[in-house]
Amino acid sequence: MLNGCADLIHLDVMDGTFVPNISFGFPVIEAVSKIATIPMDAHLMVVHPERWVGRCAELGVKMMSFHQEAAGDETGAILADIRAHGMKAGLVINPDIPVENLFPYIGQADYFLIMSVFAGFGGQKFIPESLDKIKALKKELGSRGNDAPIEVDGGVNAENAQLLKNTGASILVAGSSVFNAVDPAEAIATLRGGTRDC
Ligand code: ZN
Repeated sequence: MLNGCADLIHLDVMDGTFVPNISFGFPVIEAVSKIATIPMDAHLMVVHPERWVGRCAELGVKMMSFHQEAAGDETGAILADIRAHGMKAGLVINPDIPVENLFPYIGQADYFLIMSVFAGFGGQKFIPESLDKIKALKKELGSRGNDAPIEVDGGVNAENAQLLKNTGASILVAGSSVFNAVDPAEAIATLRGGTRDC
């Protein structure tokens, strides 16, 4: 399943404080790292992302993202620290945070993650206003000549995947629509908009 035709393994780390749920921590990331053959993309839904940077790097995480609303004034320093540890630095916002909060970090982040549901629970419905945020961010990136990828997380499925791609998202995170599918590899191929090749 870990290969399953996906490009990345997206790991949602929840601390029970920034979000009410607790998902998993480093023992699980470590276990995944031993069998993963595709890059790990860690999404930290935690109040102190700076505390996780070193461990993520040690475990071979290639992409590490955290929430701008959790980091506040520390955002720039954490992005720089993630890069200094050899990982791609990603910045995330929840649906209730204005997309403009990301703009000061264009050039400091390697990718941006727009939450299209509220962080912390699986199986939620896609929030359509997320498309406006993707569009606005894509426009701002373009106006500054920056081609940082936009990742979307939450409620991504076969119905909205093409629209998301057309709007400017280039990394689609899928949970339920893949894991609840009878044939997960087929579900990934459908999201990709192509035929199954694995
Ligand atoms: Zn996530």
